[in-house]
Amino acid sequence: MEKVYGGIEAGGTKFVCVIGMGPDDIRAETVFPTTTPEETIKQVVGFFNSYSGSDLLSAVGIASFGPLNLDSNSPEYGYITHTPKPGWEHTDILGIVKSALSLPVAIDTDVNGAALAEYLWGAGKGIDSLIYMTIGTGIGGGGMVNGGLIHGLVHPEMGHIRIPHDREKDPFEGCCPYHGDCLEGLASGKAVEVRWGTPAEELPEDHPAWELEAHYLALGIGNIICTLSPGKFITGGGLMKNPSLLLKVREKTIEYLNGYIDSSKITEDIENYIVTPGLGDYSGVLGAVALARMND
Ligand code: ZN
Repeated sequence: MEKVYGGIEAGGTKFVCVIGMGPDDIRAETVFPTTTPEETIKQVVGFFNSYSGSDLLSAVGIASFGPLNLDSNSPEYGYITHTPKPGWEHTDILGIVKSALSLPVAIDTDVNGAALAEYLWGAGKGIDSLIYMTIGTGIGGGGMVNGGLIHGLVHPEMGHIRIPHDREKDPFEGCCPYHGDCLEGLASGKAVEVRWGTPAEELPEDHPAWELEAHYLALGIGNIICTLSPGKFITGGGLMKNPSLLLKVREKTIEYLNGYIDSSKITEDIENYIVTPGLGDYSGVLGAVALARMND
């Protein structure tokens, strides 16, 4: 019997589930709104248990919002830890899915999952040091260095780096409950909405919000380029669906790095360096499939 894999992209607003082998071979998919952990995970498990394909579902991967405990020596490995998402704090997402499905289940962050899928099949194909950053309601980043997904003490939290904040030009205090004006606190979709009183997707093209947004994102991206030297910088999430924002971010990143990073990929070919996901909205869930395949 042919093997097939399950992927779960666990997000703060929805859970996306697929069964398949990769982007060209998705055999079933569904979406559930994120409600309570009990209700949401029950629906997810029901979807996999009811799969009636002639192939064998042999492993499942989870690419989840976090923060997550990814220390395999910890008794709380695979838990969502101190999330502000009501009801989800301290949820054993890995354990519950694993025991309900009786299958091998792998877990990583949503952004590490997306980075893996983009490396295997998308905009970062074959580039074994890359970053995937999502700029949506929140900001998060994951990635790969020399072919391995980045883990460490916990996992990267690129949304919470500090960037210069000129309070005369932008008196907004920032909205991160931990840091106020970290990158996420200043430039996430939530920050844009709180600062301007309008959701980002409703702001007109010529609104000053976009210039400021590009400024902060370019500062954050520049910091990460200087720290990890990725071969490709992939930017996903709702805000990056605005193509003129992407153009501004590229321009400002070049401007702020000011010729110091001596690579023509940045100075001459930034259109192919800071890019949007090749897999569109499927990076996360296909990353979960890839995690399952790696773990099987
Ligand atoms: Zn923060």
